[in-house]
Amino acid sequence: MKSNASITFLGAAGTVTGSKTLLEFGGKRVLIDCGLFQGLKNLRVQNWAEFPVKPSTVDAVILTHAHLDHCGYLPKLVREGFNGPIHCTPPTADLTKIILEDSAKIQEEEANRANRYGYTSHEEAKPLYTLDHVKQTLPLLVEHEYSEWVLLDTDLKFQLHNAGHILGSAIVEMVFGDKTIVFSGDLGTFEPLLLTPPKHLKRADYIVTESIYGDRLHPQIKAIDELKSAVLRADQKNGILIIPTFAVERAQEIIYILTQLKFQESIPDIPIFLDSPMGANATEVFLKHPGWHTLGEKRCKEMCQNIIVVRDIQQSKSVLNSDSPKIVLAGSGMVTGGRVLHYLAKHIGNPESTVLLAGFQAAGTRGRQMQEGVHEVKFFGQWHRVRAEIIQTAGLSAHADQNDLLKWLGQFDKTTKKIFINHGEPMASHSLKLKIQDVLHVDSQVAENGVKNELG
Ligand SMILES: [Zn+2]
Repeated sequence: MKSNASITFLGAAGTVTGSKTLLEFGGKRVLIDCGLFQGLKNLRVQNWAEFPVKPSTVDAVILTHAHLDHCGYLPKLVREGFNGPIHCTPPTADLTKIILEDSAKIQEEEANRANRYGYTSHEEAKPLYTLDHVKQTLPLLVEHEYSEWVLLDTDLKFQLHNAGHILGSAIVEMVFGDKTIVFSGDLGTFEPLLLTPPKHLKRADYIVTESIYGDRLHPQIKAIDELKSAVLRADQKNGILIIPTFAVERAQEIIYILTQLKFQESIPDIPIFLDSPMGANATEVFLKHPGWHTLGEKRCKEMCQNIIVVRDIQQSKSVLNSDSPKIVLAGSGMVTGGRVLHYLAKHIGNPESTVLLAGFQAAGTRGRQMQEGVHEVKFFGQWHRVRAEIIQTAGLSAHADQNDLLKWLGQFDKTTKKIFINHGEPMASHSLKLKIQDVLHVDSQVAENGVKNELG
């Protein structure tokens, strides 16, 4: 038997971003996810801190999926010396490319803008990483199908399983010596719109589970009804409907629903613009991997015919400057950056405009502030008065709720020694811990940042 195994949470402990879990076993170091901290400033500054172990000593990274809070730190890890394989599914590899390139661009643009307008408290604003660092990162991606065993060492291996969260998302089942640990990654609901539900697994000595909705149940509202009423509301006011959109999955889900509504003639024939290069590219990834979602090739193509994809800045400006009624999907989903800020700069002060927040809004993001009803938000170095109507959808979620999490965890046999709870704000994680104890009677522990947990 080799030396003891341990896991250390280097992010997504007490928060929902910055997912990084270090597994150490037999002299090997494997990082499960390598995400960026987002939201509150005290979280974002952690992206700049020195990595707790030397990046060159990490042997491999396994990505559960391509969201920025799971893959967005990779170029920094590579910049600082990591040179090992980054294991993931084929759609995750394609989506990670899109997401990292966009992230580098946003960081470069923000640093430039901050320097140009002098609204930085630093001497000179610098990006966390650049497109060059992304270029060094992408060749390290290694693709694997679901249920394919990947050997990392003689007695260390893993396989990926469907997580039902976003295209290509995975649960990681890892075997070290004679023990098994399962990392949930982000788990989807049991009725995902475009995917199949998370895979049932039967056995694990240890489980690391997300808990983003560990204290909540999703309301029984249908997303199609919510979107319909948002479109009708915007139409009634003759204004613009802005949907800050997560480029991956959420954009495709919304386009799919809007297409259905148009087809049923339940909404007027208002033009739908997708002003998100990343959203357009992610839609292409859906077309490229028809076997990884439930839409199929034909419906996927039909869906794309119903939207106007904004291809360049010139077109974006003309969409922005026209006052005719329209629906605009633009990134980013939590209003932390991207083209949606330009639409909001023009329209957020107008009561005739409607903003539909279509997903989880992390603490500290502008999306969360708007959700909570602030009267002004700051971006581009200025405060903007919020007069537009802000609506939040509840029927669309890429995440399991408390019931789903308990159902998924309850499928394991009773040999599990401990469940570690990460990827949740403290209230959510602690509520899930109580439920796990009461309902499943399994020992559990809320993840603490930087603390090494021995796996006996
Ligand atoms: Zn995710």
